[in-house]
Amino acid sequence: PAALTADAERAYDLDRQHVFHSWSAQATLDPMVVTRAEGSYLWNGDGARFLDFTSQLVYTNLGHQHPRIVAAIQEQAASLCTIAPGYANGTRSEAARLIASHTPGDLDKVFFTNGGADANEHAIRMARLHTGKHKVLSTYRSYHGGTQLAVNVTGDPRRWPSDNGSTGTVHFFGPFLYRSSFSATTEEEECQRALAHLEQVIALEGASTIAAVILESIPGTAGIMMPPAGYLKGVRELCDRHDIVFIADEVMAGFGRAGRWFAVEHGDVVPDLLTFAKGVNSGYVPLGGVAISEKIHRTFAERTYPGGLTYSGHPLACAAAVATIETMEEENIVERVDALGREILEPGLRDLAARHPWIGEVRGTGAFWAIELVSDRATREPLAPYGGSSPAMAAIISGCTRRGLLPFSNFNRIHVVPPLTISAAEATEGLAILDAALTEAYDATR
Ligand code: PLP
Repeated sequence: PAALTADAERAYDLDRQHVFHSWSAQATLDPMVVTRAEGSYLWNGDGARFLDFTSQLVYTNLGHQHPRIVAAIQEQAASLCTIAPGYANGTRSEAARLIASHTPGDLDKVFFTNGGADANEHAIRMARLHTGKHKVLSTYRSYHGGTQLAVNVTGDPRRWPSDNGSTGTVHFFGPFLYRSSFSATTEEEECQRALAHLEQVIALEGASTIAAVILESIPGTAGIMMPPAGYLKGVRELCDRHDIVFIADEVMAGFGRAGRWFAVEHGDVVPDLLTFAKGVNSGYVPLGGVAISEKIHRTFAERTYPGGLTYSGHPLACAAAVATIETMEEENIVERVDALGREILEPGLRDLAARHPWIGEVRGTGAFWAIELVSDRATREPLAPYGGSSPAMAAIISGCTRRGLLPFSNFNRIHVVPPLTISAAEATEGLAILDAALTEAYDATR
C-alpha cells in the first residue's frame, strides 16, 4: 500500500509473508496496519484516524488503551505475571467475586477460560455430565465459537466447512419477526410460534437425549435480533420441564453491551450456565468463562470436573477484568449505555431508516444495533445473500472507511457496536458518516 511509514510498511510486508489470518483466503487479504489506538479511535499506517464503530470484534467495551486497565495489567505484571490455576490468587479471586456480583440469580461460581469458544465447550461438557445426556440444541442464526464443538453448535455458515455428524448438535429457528420462519405478523405470534417450534423439536429429537439448549441471549453477529417478550422465559420453562440445561451465551451481549450487565435481564430469566468473554475485561488480555448455578456446581462437589486449561484465570487477564468491572461500576457505564441507546443511537438510526430506501429495519438496544439492508423494502430481498457480500455492501463499507469510520458488517447488515464509552458527539459523527456512505452508494446505483 502507498504512503505507509517505513515501520508500517515492514509490519505489512512481514504480515503478508508470515501471518495466517482467521476465516480468510490468504491470498486475497490486504490488512490495515494499525499503529495506535485510543478511546473510540485508531490510526492506520499512514496516520489516518478512524472512529471505531466495531469495538474490534465487539470487545473493546471501555475503548482502546483505557488508562485504568493498562495500569492494572502493568501492576499485575510487576507483582506476579502468572500462577497456575490450582493456586488461589488475590486477583483471580477478586475477578470471580466481581463477576458473580453481577451475574443473575445463583450463578455465583466462575470457571475461567481463554475466550468464548472454550467457555461454550466447557458449559456443554458440564451440561452433558450433569444430565447424563448428549445432544445440544441451538439456533441457525447464531455464532458460538471456532473450536470443533462450538463451531458445530454455531448456526451461521462458518459451521459448514467443519460440520460433522459426531458432535450431537441440532439446530432450530429462533424468533426473528422481520424474516419470520413461522409466517408470524406480530411479536406475540412470533414468540408463541417459535416456542411451539422448539417444543416440537424437543419432542421429535427426544427430551431424554437432550443435554442443553444454548442461546445467545441476544444473537450478535447473526443479526442482533431482540427476543420478543416472553421468549426466554418460555425457553426456561421448556428446559425445566424436560430436564435440559439452559446455557445463555453472553460472550457478545454481556457486560453492558445491551444496556444491562447481562442481556438475559431483558428477558428476566436466570439460565443454568452463562458464558462470557470479550467485554469482561474489554479484551485487553484473552479471558472468558462460565458462570455456574448452584444446581450444576453441586454435581461437581464430590465428582471431579474433567476439564481445565493451563491459563484458566490468568492473573494478567483477571487484573484487566477487575479494572474493567470496577470502572463500569464507578462510572455507571451500564446506565450510560442504556441512555446512549435510547437518546442517541436509536433515534439516529430510525432517522436514517426513514430516509434511506435500502434500510429494511433497524433493531437493537444499548450499544448493540443492527441495520438490515434490503434492495427492495416490499420483498425484503437482502442487499447481500446469506453468507455472502455484494457490490452494494462493499460500496457502503468503503464509503465509511474513506470517511474515517470503521463499520462492522455481516452479509446484508451493518452493526453499530461502538465502545460503551463512546461520547454522544462521536456517536453522532459516526452516524453522519454512515448517512453519507449510504447516500453515495445508493445514488451510484441510480
Ligand atoms: N459466542 C458469541 C456470542 C460470540 O460472539 C463469539 C465471538 O464472536 C464467541 C462465542 C466465540 O468467542 P471467542 O472468539 O473468544 O472464542
